[in-house]
Amino acid sequence: MVEPTLSLQPGPARVLVVEDEPRLAALLADYLRAAGHEAECIADGGQALQAWSERRHDLVLLDLMLPGVDGLTLCKQLRALTDVPIVMLTARAEETDRLAGLELGADDYIPKTPFSPREVMARVKAVLRRSRAAPRPAAAALQVDEPGWRASWQGHALDLTPNEFRLLRALAAQPGRVYARAQLLDLLPSGDDARAATERTVDSHVKNLRRKLEQAGAGSDLIRSVYGVGYRYDQDDETAGRTSMPVRRSGGLR
Ligand code: CA
Repeated sequence: MVEPTLSLQPGPARVLVVEDEPRLAALLADYLRAAGHEAECIADGGQALQAWSERRHDLVLLDLMLPGVDGLTLCKQLRALTDVPIVMLTARAEETDRLAGLELGADDYIPKTPFSPREVMARVKAVLRRSRAAPRPAAAALQVDEPGWRASWQGHALDLTPNEFRLLRALAAQPGRVYARAQLLDLLPSGDDARAATERTVDSHVKNLRRKLEQAGAGSDLIRSVYGVGYRYDQDDETAGRTSMPVRRSGGLR
């Protein structure tokens, strides 16, 4: 009897391999590529978070023992940003490590001894199939608390000025809509500093907003410049339709 899920091939994925042993990293990359996936290898834990933030891989294969930032810390940092599937690899197979990884939100956990690339590939396939078959609720993305005049990105408070808040609220309320600078300027109160309020003021607020969003882990291109016109708020796939209620997944195997 054929398992119905066997027909559901997860398809090619972009995989970030975070592994400091070059031979093992190369071996994993070879297997991933042979299975039709793309693989990017990073040896230093400290660089992995940035690599993922920039390129948004579909899955992370994460070694536990790493130079720079260790695998458990990295797992936790990734989970603060994203629900990307994470498969942890470890030479240590102690139960405490296993539980720690799963509590921090890893999707699966594979001991490296004895190491079986085929086993890794089977788990990768299973985790991809699971994550694609039933897209899980995202970690909270942008939250705009209108009555409280506050906003946060995935739980990280954005320390916004009132004018930055006004602009973000308007832009984020209609993702994809292009606002002219003049329209955005109209959203700002013409109070004490009206003399200084020009379309350049909007640029400067947007610049600060981007910096604050980026510091909160949102990536730098959430608010896009539209040449010669103004700005629009973009939602990428990771955050589409998720600006309202945050739903935090629980860690663990599923
Ligand atoms: Ca290692």
